[in-house]
This record gives sequence, structure tokens and C-alpha cells, in this order.
Amino acid sequence: MKHKIPLVDLKAQYKQIDKEIIAVINRVLKTGDFILGEEVTQFEKEFALYCGTTYAVGLANGLSALELGMRALGIGTGDEVLTPVNSFIASSSAISFTGATPALVDCTSDTYTIDVNKIEQHISDKTKAIMPVHLYGQPADMDAIRKQAKKFGLRIIEDACQAHGATFNGKKVGSFGDFAAFSFYPGKNLGAYGDGGMLTTDDKSIYENILIMRNYGQKEKYVHHTLAWNSRLDSIQAAILRVKLRYLEKWNKKRRQHAKQYTTLLAGLPIVTPHVGEYSSHVYHLYVIRAQGRDLLRQYLADRGIATGLHYPIPIHQQRAYAFLGLKKGDYPIAEKLAGEILSLPMYAELTEKNIEYITDTIKKFYQNKKLYKT
Ligand SMILES: *Cc1c(COP(=O)(O)O)cnc(C)c1O
Repeated sequence: MKHKIPLVDLKAQYKQIDKEIIAVINRVLKTGDFILGEEVTQFEKEFALYCGTTYAVGLANGLSALELGMRALGIGTGDEVLTPVNSFIASSSAISFTGATPALVDCTSDTYTIDVNKIEQHISDKTKAIMPVHLYGQPADMDAIRKQAKKFGLRIIEDACQAHGATFNGKKVGSFGDFAAFSFYPGKNLGAYGDGGMLTTDDKSIYENILIMRNYGQKEKYVHHTLAWNSRLDSIQAAILRVKLRYLEKWNKKRRQHAKQYTTLLAGLPIVTPHVGEYSSHVYHLYVIRAQGRDLLRQYLADRGIATGLHYPIPIHQQRAYAFLGLKKGDYPIAEKLAGEILSLPMYAELTEKNIEYITDTIKKFYQNKKLYKT
């Protein structure tokens, strides 16, 4: 096969920064300091500065940042947290792991983020917080969320795991809520070479709580204040992430350019390209279209060397793991419809204009093929 375009290409990214990465790994190896330590402290400072928050705490992964943050807010058994039904499972499962229950909300049909107008119908006297997800790299409508949160006395938790560097009204995500969670899973816009996560906050008591919770309840060695977790970021990952953080703006800019090229070249096809909200800057963790004949198109692209993804084919209320919520098909019409139409096209900074031309030409050919696609 002539062309081979993956959904994400971590090897292409590594090629650009390999010397720097090897140098910092060596630096850590020589210190013999592998868990938390100076690299993690420095990265926390740099990441907090980047997001515009007072504090940042390195953690084992994004899921843990969500769960421990909610625990620090006192969320637990008997409580409910509003969150969109169309997200990666971690948004909801983090809520469940605290003992609380996710109160699932449908998304809007244009930005695919939580539909703020549908929040009220899911609010009960148990509702403690709202957790918008900045899905695919696009901030949720934080103005409307703040208004609703104020009206109903809710805490705000940002799931920013897909949106490192995105802004709403010029302000970085991660700085809007009581706290925010980031993931450094390798494929994210800022990805480690392993697992990693971060919690950002302006709240000193959340910050101090998380420092203890991530490390067996210790403030000082041998003294355990509470029974707690092991959710530490390691030094090698922090050193790698410090290098990559310096490239993030450049890489996000590239993603935006690629998105623009895709959107221009896909005009006129039976496809819906991403809609960016008025106050949002999108960082395109994923470039997600809605396509007629999605499954056939996906196969057609795969046969021609183009990998695609589905984020996500099964809304959370239809996952077996959440059968106990007793929700059914038809309860979330927008998310259910999207699940059958969405398609994630290849997206990473190192993608070339030629790659995108090939991908969009192939999509055009699919829709011109009357045998495959009938209007
Ligand atoms: C990746 C992701 C998470 C979880 O992050 P991990 O580091 O894999 O635990 C949470 N929420 C969303 C929306 C994500 O995309």
C-alpha cells in the first residue's frame, strides 16, 4: 500500500525531539531520583503558570486527578455530579469511584459539549457539582456553566484531559473550575511516554489535600494523616513533559492549521465539519466529522491506508458498566445520533498538507462512487 496514515503518529513527534528527550532522561537517571522529586516540582510550577492557576499537582493519570479532586471537594456516597453522556468513560467512572453517581446530560448538536440548557432537568437535591468535558479539545461553554453553577450552588470540575492549551474567552482551560484534571496519556496533545496526570486549582485546601492523597496520606515521611492512594507522577515522565510543554503551543497551532485545511477541503460533501463556539479556541485533540454512510466510509479509508477512530461509538448510558443507572435508548437523542455518525480523522502536528489532500480526496472519491454511496 502506497499510503499509510495513522490516526496519531507518536514516532514522527519523537524524531523531532529525540536528542532533548534522551538528554533529560539521562539527567534523571544520574540523580537516582525517580518518584516525585525536583523534576515533578518544576513541571508542576511550569504547568500551573501555563494554565494560569496558582497550583498544579502531578498525579498518576487523568482519572485519578478527577477522582482525588472530587474527594478533596467532599464529594462521595449519595451525591450526584452532572457530566456529559458523550465522553470517555473516565469522566463518569471517576464520579462513581468517589461513591457518587453521574447525572448524565445530553450534548449540543453543534459543539458536542454538555448542553447547558439541559442541565436543570437533571438537578436534584443530591447534585453537588457539574463536570463539563472539553471534548475533542474544544472548551465547553464556561460562561453558561458558571451561571448555572452559581444559580444551583454547584461546584465546577473541568475534565480538561483532551484540551491542554485550549482557551475560552482568552483564558486557558484548567483555570475555570474549583479544579481541573489533565491527562498525559501518550496520545493526548501533551503526552508522556507512559501514564501521567495533573490537577490544577487556585484553592489552597484542595491543593494541600491532593498532595497528601497522592502519596499514602503522608505530609512528612512515616506520618500518615489519612488512608490514601498511590497516585504519583514519576520524575522521568515529568522531565519529558517539561520538554514537550515548550512545544505545546507550536503543536496546537499546527493542529489548528490542519483542521482549517480539512474543513476547507471537505466543504460541499455530505459531512459536518467541527463547529467552534464563539468564545472558544479549539486545540483539536481530535478532528471529528459527522459523515453520512460513516461505517462504509471508514472501511473505504482503511482500505486506502487511512486510519480513523470513533470517539465514542457507545454513549455512556448505553455502556454495560452503567446498566445499573436504568437509562435507556432514546434518553439522550443527540448523543445517540452522533454515535452513529462521528468519525475521527488523522490528527497530529506532523501531518502534512499532502497527507490531508490525500485523505480529503479519498473521502471525495467515496462520495462520488455511486455503488458505495447512494444519496
Ligand atoms: C484521557 C481522558 C481521561 C483519563 O485520562 P487517563 O490519563 O487515561 O486516566 C479522562 N477524561 C477524558 C475526556 C479523557 O479523554
